[in-house]
Amino acid sequence: MKRRSFAAGLAILGIVLGLSAVREVRGQGAQSSGQGRPLALVGGTLIDGFGSTPIRNSVILVRGDRIVAVGQVGSLEVPADAEVISTEGMSVLPGLWDMHVHLMINGHSDYTHWDETYPARFEKDIMPASARQLLLAGVTSARDLGAPLEASINVREAIKRGEIPGPSLYVSGPFIQHAPYPGTEQFRWGVSGVADAKAKVQRLAKAGVDVIKLIDQDQMTPDEVKAVVDEAHAHGLPVVAHSHRPEEIRLGLKYGVDNFEHTGLATAPEYPADIIDAIKERTAQMALGPFFWTPTVQGLSNYEYMRDNPEMLDDPSWTLGLPPDIIDDIRRSIQHPDRMGYFQLTPARRPTLKRKITQLREAGATLLIGTDSGIPMQFHSQTTWNELDVWVREMGVSPMEAIRAATYWPSLMMKRDRDVGTITPGKYADIIAVRGDVLRYINLLQRVDVVVKHGRRYK
Ligand SMILES: [Zn+2]
Repeated sequence: MKRRSFAAGLAILGIVLGLSAVREVRGQGAQSSGQGRPLALVGGTLIDGFGSTPIRNSVILVRGDRIVAVGQVGSLEVPADAEVISTEGMSVLPGLWDMHVHLMINGHSDYTHWDETYPARFEKDIMPASARQLLLAGVTSARDLGAPLEASINVREAIKRGEIPGPSLYVSGPFIQHAPYPGTEQFRWGVSGVADAKAKVQRLAKAGVDVIKLIDQDQMTPDEVKAVVDEAHAHGLPVVAHSHRPEEIRLGLKYGVDNFEHTGLATAPEYPADIIDAIKERTAQMALGPFFWTPTVQGLSNYEYMRDNPEMLDDPSWTLGLPPDIIDDIRRSIQHPDRMGYFQLTPARRPTLKRKITQLREAGATLLIGTDSGIPMQFHSQTTWNELDVWVREMGVSPMEAIRAATYWPSLMMKRDRDVGTITPGKYADIIAVRGDVLRYINLLQRVDVVVKHGRRYK
């Protein structure tokens, strides 16, 4: 019953807005290659995620949820009974990862109001809408960093079971920090002492989270930070940590955080030399694997443009799946992008971003695409392509490197590279295609034409 009214609501929304995305989505009834009938994506230029020369006139064969063969027209035969998706004229690539999303928020400008008003609707309304929007943007894997524990697990599992459309989710559940901000106790767990730090991580591990999210670790005692990281690792869980302030980074480096997030330092022009030296020490350790950093720069980098050219805030893609009252509330809250306290310092921070990204790259860090989608004016339907675009347009990163930071490297970081991250026989069929050449025009990714996840076509 509930499901039907949701679908009806979507249909009406689709008619009203004329959204092609809505028309094409089939929700849980998305097209599947099924048991018997293979799926074939035929004709496009394949960027497989490994970084070498793309494969022209590619053929990808999918059976069930897996890729069974990759080749070229003329040498790899398409079975007569296959359902064929023509990718002629398109770039074909692995489904994207977004390594830093917030499904429980949706671009509203007032966190206090949001946290007071909507927690009861996170699991049923808000997180599923965010997930759906990400998937239609070509994001087939996403790391959700900070939400109530039960809702995080339930939404992840509902997607896994095929009940709601969304990316494969890797969730942290609540943030681990010194103390929750007032009114945020459902998704921020404070720790007090080593025993408590271990107990909190154990509780998250037992509930089945995929990653531990640590923030404000410079307000914790070093022993607490160490306890969180060690306990997470004892459970096989990676630790992702905020890295806004120098001391947060130093502690993270000292105690073995696996993935550093953001490009903070407020308006300071660059990372201090001792931090860059410590990163170089770390990146010299081959046995420890790559040193991962998710800079999340698009929101900062694009703020002034968006403030002065706010048309994209009217794009109906971000309303998909959201109830009308929530859409109205968000819309009202972003009427004046210029007046938001959240962004007042951003114009002074923006010029520092390239310097910091360059420092990280030169120190040998492996950067990952992540966006902080859900924060004020940063909608799930729009952020991921914008992050790639900013890297290429402003940070001097090549399109291929940006794509690898959204495909191969995230899958390796999350130890899922046996199953996703490249277009390789045996892996899940997480594949997107977009008309045109993304290696020349990366921003074509703002309008993905084909989204296949686990062998099902969603767009
Ligand atoms: Zn975040």
